[in-house]
Amino acid sequence: MMGPWRSFVLKASSIDISTHKHSLVKSSLESQLKTLLPRGRVFTSAAQLAGYGADGLGYKNHIPDAVVIPADAEELVGFMKGAKALHVPVILRGAGTSLSGGPVAAQGGVIVHTSALKRIREMNVKGFWCEVECGVALNDLDAALKPHGVFYPPDPSSGPVCTLGGNVASNAGGAHCFRYGVTSNYVLGVEAVTLDGTVHRFGGPAGGRGPWREDWKRFMIGSEGTLAAFTRFWLRLLPLPEKVWTFRATYPDLKTTEAAIHALVAHTSYPAAIEMLDPRGVAMVESSQMACGLPEGSFMLLVEIDGPEPLVNARVEPVAELLRRAGSKDVMFSDEDELRKKLWKARKAAGGLLGQLSPAYVVQDAVIPKRALAEVLQLVYDEADAAGIPAVNVFHAGDGNLHPNFLFDSRVPGDLDKVELISKRLMQRVIEVGGTLSGEHGIGNDKSSYMPLVFGPDSMRLQLAVPASFNPAHQMNPLKVFDNRRFAA
Ligand SMILES: Cc1cc2nc3c(=O)[nH]c(=O)nc-3n(C[C@H](O)[C@H](O)[C@H](O)COP(=O)(O)OP(=O)(O)OC[C@H]3O[C@@H](n4cnc5c(N)ncnc54)[C@H](O)[C@@H]3O)c2cc1C
Repeated sequence: MMGPWRSFVLKASSIDISTHKHSLVKSSLESQLKTLLPRGRVFTSAAQLAGYGADGLGYKNHIPDAVVIPADAEELVGFMKGAKALHVPVILRGAGTSLSGGPVAAQGGVIVHTSALKRIREMNVKGFWCEVECGVALNDLDAALKPHGVFYPPDPSSGPVCTLGGNVASNAGGAHCFRYGVTSNYVLGVEAVTLDGTVHRFGGPAGGRGPWREDWKRFMIGSEGTLAAFTRFWLRLLPLPEKVWTFRATYPDLKTTEAAIHALVAHTSYPAAIEMLDPRGVAMVESSQMACGLPEGSFMLLVEIDGPEPLVNARVEPVAELLRRAGSKDVMFSDEDELRKKLWKARKAAGGLLGQLSPAYVVQDAVIPKRALAEVLQLVYDEADAAGIPAVNVFHAGDGNLHPNFLFDSRVPGDLDKVELISKRLMQRVIEVGGTLSGEHGIGNDKSSYMPLVFGPDSMRLQLAVPASFNPAHQMNPLKVFDNRRFAA
């Protein structure tokens, strides 16, 4: 009887000591932060930190030691000047919609929330570029550009809230990136602050590299907060298309859906978007407030063509015919703004609706050669059904960018293990068919354990050398992308 009691007492007292130590360290961190930023910009209470524990995935919680919200770029630079001496990790956070565990304090530390850096500094319509701060929400930029007849094409479905900073740091994609290309195609310049507080410019309104021989800008895009804090960007714009037609077509099974996708990709109408919702995805939309009369029980393709009016009008019937010939008995199309917007709203809300279906979900972001689409998706259904884990697929089919969502309850013992096993098997198959781990969400800490499936030790060493050259101690967003990339205080 004595043994367990004694060990309990010892444990309790050691917790007391470490809690005491922790609160001492925390109060010292707090007072240091208050020398770097005005008082109202530093947050350390449990209630203030609670909302910063997770990202869009929600099931892995890492509460930071502190959160700072700089009022502007100058305050962010001021913070970065003193950040190294804090000896804790520094994690940049935009809207926190990442689906890869990117903006969380996996090794503790300070989260820098960029929500106040939200100025659109210039819209140079004639030059087809704009200058924006990193905290600007994507849809706010769209709304500001539209009256001028221009647009910024990358369109992640999280557009109402996600920030340009998060988009650039994860090289975001979106539905229309099939034709228009992802974020990296539109970043002309990046302004970034390194850990010593030095402000660097990579490129600018005219694009290029800025005062650098190598193209460092390319390293910044998709760096997932591991290199520097972005403050602003210069982004390339395009003229708004004159005419847009949106199609929806349903298919009875995966094989015919895949055939329709191949036919669309090969067609000279060159669609802007080819999206797919599986029957569960359609049912989820139809049982929500986003219901828009989609026929249930089938796989659905959502396709869009755009461009000069006469040209696009001439392509409508050939595209509809192609969709029918591929096996659809139900092809609808429209150029009416209201109808089109309703369809897109339903598609883009799908990710958010998952949260209403299930307490937690894991979404994968694999990219595969499109010829393997039906085969890999079948594997997803087979594995998930066998494990009793519902899988919902809503994704950018034209890009071969799969997003299987595995719904589970993290409170049920064993559920997460099952999801992780299915995800691993899926990723192994993805690599075997010639695909890769991420198309747009980034690796974060959710997919870092899969990195060795794709990259050998030499390749991992070389890739790790990039963040190491910016911050050798790995103070910027540690434990992301690479499992072994720890901050050595
Ligand atoms: C419903 C839903 C739908 C989605 N659809 C898509 C989609 O279609 N396409 C797509 O690509 N993604 C999608 N996502 C994922 C996510 O929205 C994107 O990755 C987005 O780019 C993240 O932006 P954010 O502002 O939320 O960044 P956060 O989640 O806050 O951060 C993401 C990463 O960027 C880094 N970061 C943020 N700001 C800065 C900065 N100023 N400087 C340096 N690093 C920074 C963070 O450290 C982190 O590593 C979706 C997410 C949800 C919830």
